[in-house]
Amino acid sequence: MKSLSHDLRERLDQLRQEGLYRCLRPVEGPQGVIIRMDGKEVINAASNDYLGFANHPALRAAAREALDRYGVGSGASRLICGTLAPHAVLEQALADFKGTESAVVFSSGYATALGTITALLESQDILILDKHVHACVVDAARLSGARLRIFRHNDPADLETKLRWASQERCKKSPASRVMVVTESLFSMDGEVAPLAELVALKEKYGAWLMVDEAHATGLYGARRRGLLEAFGLEERVEVQMGTLGKSLGSAGGYICGSRILIDFLVNRARSFIFSTAPLPAASAAAGEAVKRIQSSDGAERGHRLRLHLEKFRPGQAPLLPKTGLPPALTPIIPIMIGEEGRAVEIGQKLWQGGIYLPAIRYPTVSRGKARLRLTLSAAHTDEQVNQILKALASLGLNSP
Ligand SMILES: *Cc1c(COP(=O)(O)O)cnc(C)c1O
Repeated sequence: MKSLSHDLRERLDQLRQEGLYRCLRPVEGPQGVIIRMDGKEVINAASNDYLGFANHPALRAAAREALDRYGVGSGASRLICGTLAPHAVLEQALADFKGTESAVVFSSGYATALGTITALLESQDILILDKHVHACVVDAARLSGARLRIFRHNDPADLETKLRWASQERCKKSPASRVMVVTESLFSMDGEVAPLAELVALKEKYGAWLMVDEAHATGLYGARRRGLLEAFGLEERVEVQMGTLGKSLGSAGGYICGSRILIDFLVNRARSFIFSTAPLPAASAAAGEAVKRIQSSDGAERGHRLRLHLEKFRPGQAPLLPKTGLPPALTPIIPIMIGEEGRAVEIGQKLWQGGIYLPAIRYPTVSRGKARLRLTLSAAHTDEQVNQILKALASLGLNSP
């Protein structure tokens, strides 16, 4: 057998040849719309900090206060003695915000999907996923051991085929098997909105459960900025609402909102919740502040500012109504498809030279040959920064879709 280093060197060389090698680039300062990397200040067009909360003074203050009161570490898992006040406060705030009976917080969105899906489904059960769901859902599905079916991206007709198959399986073989459909509401890599009303109608027709990951939609859509389920009036009809605390909410962690019985079950059965040290109290306190702030005039104004930026990329949307959240036709994720990996990297470097940080997104984050620039805008960008991004793209002949 080859030595470990020999083996890994060969595999890394292979990645380099395919244009897929990646390395870490530390940001020399706080997250924001201007970041300093490799000693150079650039406009950041790649973060998920859509509302500019990651370095917001109120979140910093909430984290600092929690740090002073509760220290750094949680010291234990949630079920032993790691549940500190900021966790309980955050969970109540999330349930109130989403209008659900209850909520539970995990240390990341990844852990949320992993723990939730593996707790709810067992090997005789059936999971049906949209082709483009996030890696954490794919990994959770594999780990659950449930039988897996993938429906074509945002294609309700194909979902129906899979649901019909699942019904037949239940009739023929295992009437006790559960069926759950999982989708994102706003897809993280293509910025597309799922046809949620159709998906909900289908899962109801076939008596399946539905889990919706609102990682990128929470804080942006709907009159109360709860997410796209709110914008479409579907919240009451979805069994499992998931999201993260590290995107619009500016902190870190993930959550499930739903019925009291769902949350009670997850606390008892979700392994990534049970066997993991509780989130840092400072992180949960900051997320709690973000949940409050999203519902305040600050949240509304930031949402409005983000909307004005997005209109520049996709003009001609509905009239401006500052308090109603983004219209689903506008998303803060604007993919610019390139295709070939090497070319995407090259374009990313040219943008970098022009003072814009917008790196290539490549396999395995997206399919091979579907490399892209994933442009994201933030409420914290200034008009001038948005114009600079537009100008830099135009100068490279890249018109946003
Ligand atoms: C980012 C993301 C996650 C994972 O959340 P983390 O808190 O970053 O672990 C899950 N689902 C989707 C759709 C995401 O974009």
